[in-house]
Amino acid sequence: MKVLVTGGAGYIGSHTCVELIEADYTPIVVDNLCNSSAKSLERVKEITGQDITFYQGDVCDEALLDAILSEHEVICAIHFAGLKAVGESVAMPLEYYRNNLLSTLTLCKVLGKHGVKKIVFSSSATVYSGDNEMPLRETSKTGNCTNPYGWTKYMGEQILRDIAKADGEWSVVNLRYFNPVGAHKSGLIGEHPNGIPNNLMPFISQTAIGKRHHLNVFGNDYPTHDGTGVRDYIHVVDLARGHVAAIKYLLSHTGEGVFNLGTGTGYSVLDMVKAFESANGVSVPYEIADRRPGDLATCYAEPAKSREVLGWQAQFDQNDMCRDSWNWQSKNPNGYDD
Ligand code: NAD
Ligand code: UDP
Repeated sequence: MKVLVTGGAGYIGSHTCVELIEADYTPIVVDNLCNSSAKSLERVKEITGQDITFYQGDVCDEALLDAILSEHEVICAIHFAGLKAVGESVAMPLEYYRNNLLSTLTLCKVLGKHGVKKIVFSSSATVYSGDNEMPLRETSKTGNCTNPYGWTKYMGEQILRDIAKADGEWSVVNLRYFNPVGAHKSGLIGEHPNGIPNNLMPFISQTAIGKRHHLNVFGNDYPTHDGTGVRDYIHVVDLARGHVAAIKYLLSHTGEGVFNLGTGTGYSVLDMVKAFESANGVSVPYEIADRRPGDLATCYAEPAKSREVLGWQAQFDQNDMCRDSWNWQSKNPNGYDD
């Protein structure tokens, strides 16, 4: 059974390709490589022993998608393709709205034309409003996003919800990811951000390997157990498996389903630093810096709905996340350029 995977050469997409293959699905990848390397797919082949059908192109290109869906009979799509840098989205809102929304609109149009009315969408915990109580449930308040990237996820979900409402044949799953970290245990695929990492885990591993002098801890005066920001970090392989569970759900349901993919446990910045040091026997020098504008003190999921409805639950713990991040980083200090 073939699955169209947009953005499949990226960090989460490449890990999902591995899990799809292991669950006997055949990924058909389309990616314009604007934030990834085709080498990730060669590595997926190394891990799974299977070639991946790959189209290098833009998901906003209707003719390309039409040609792919004419060539391959897919059962559904997983839509990872999108721009994801929060700061960049503030500086380049037009490009973020254009890319993230047009890709979703184009993909749905072509899927509908081919009678494939099933899609899993990469949404984010960022769609939740900042004034919710923790943990975040799928019913918690959304909106009040603090940047254009967040709004593209909020609007992407809404577009899919409306499509499912208008046409009862559609089945849509909006997956709200918390903080994906880690890498495949082989160390062959992982996350390699361009330039200076924005996210905590790549910054920690680049500091441990000596590419960064120290980690700036953004604020130690939050109302948390040690004053630093608390997040729900989830191993990327668990996240990838959540997509396999979502496909099974798609195939037996119509309408829209929304699910949190998180562990339900929050760790602070300093918890993560200490866990990384002890899991890997390395040192991560840090300095306390000002708070980062727009950051919340605490953000973690209530994952019960995913467990009960999708039958999915995170398996990996904090130690696994830290070990696998370092395994990837130390084997590939320059990502896929090595
Ligand atoms: P990524 O940048 O590694 O992967 C996204 C992929 O999409 C890249 O390979 C990029 O080249 C491709 N792409 C972007 N626009 C495209 C287009 N118009 N046509 C074809 N390909 C295109 O990012 P990721 O971390 O793997 O994230 C995957 C998805 O999950 C994104 O939609 C992201 O917004 C979402 N998400 C990520 C996180 C996270 O922390 N990584 C959290 C929540 C949600
Ligand atoms: N963080 C930090 N230093 C960094 C990057 C992140 O202290 O260099 C903190 C950040 O303030 C937040 C947590 O780490 O409390 C997770 O940040 P990330 O950007 O990875 O995820 P998000 O804030 O988007 O959930």
